[in-house]
Amino acid sequence: AQNGSVRKRGPNILVTGTPGTGKTTTSSALAEATQLHHIIIGDLVKEKNLHDGWDDELDCYLINEDLVCDELEDLMEEGGNIVDYHGCDFFPERWFDRVVVLQTDNTVLYDRLSRRGYTGSKLSNNIECEIFQVLLQEAKESYPEDIVVALKSDTIEDISRNVASLTDWVGSWHPAS
Ligand code: ADP
Ligand code: MN
Repeated sequence: AQNGSVRKRGPNILVTGTPGTGKTTTSSALAEATQLHHIIIGDLVKEKNLHDGWDDELDCYLINEDLVCDELEDLMEEGGNIVDYHGCDFFPERWFDRVVVLQTDNTVLYDRLSRRGYTGSKLSNNIECEIFQVLLQEAKESYPEDIVVALKSDTIEDISRNVASLTDWVGSWHPAS
C-alpha cells in the first residue's frame, strides 16, 4: 500500500515463468487491454547493452542485473509497467504489486521450445526448470506470498482467461488500497 501510493501511472506487474510459457504473448495482450507499458527485459538488455557479453554455454546474454535495475528504477517508481522476464530474484521487492508466474504442461512446453529451435541441454534445462517449478519457487522466495499468483498457460483459452482476470485486477487496483 505504501509502495503503491507513489505509483501515479498504475500498478507494476511482473510476468515471469520458464521460457516458452507465454510471457511475451500474455504481456502484450495485457498491455493492449490496460495501456500499461510492456518491458521485455531481454530486448532492453540487448538494446541498451545491459550485459557482460554472450554466454556460449547458456546460449544467451549474461545479463548485468545491476545495470538493468538502475535502468528501470525511475520507470518503476512511476508505475504502470508490465515487466516480462524469465527470472525474478534480482528485482527490488518493492517494485511489484503483482507477480504472475505462468506455467505450462511440460509436454506442451517441449513442443513449443522445439518449434523455437531449442535442442539438447538448452531444451532439457528449460523443461526441467518447468517440472521443478523453479520460477514459482523463486517468486515465492522473493516476494510477499499474497502478491504471487501462478496461472496455467497451456492453451489460447488460458491466455484469454489470464488476460481478462489480470485486466480486471488492474481495473480495480488503487494506489491507496
Ligand atoms: P515466453 O515469452 O514466455 O518465452 P512466448 O509468449 O514467446 O513465451 O510464447 C512462445 C510460443 O508459444 C509462441 O509461439 C506463442 O504463440 C506460444 N504460446 C505461448 N503461450 C501459449 C498458450 N497459452 N497457448 C498456446 N500457445 C502459446
Ligand atoms: Mn518472451
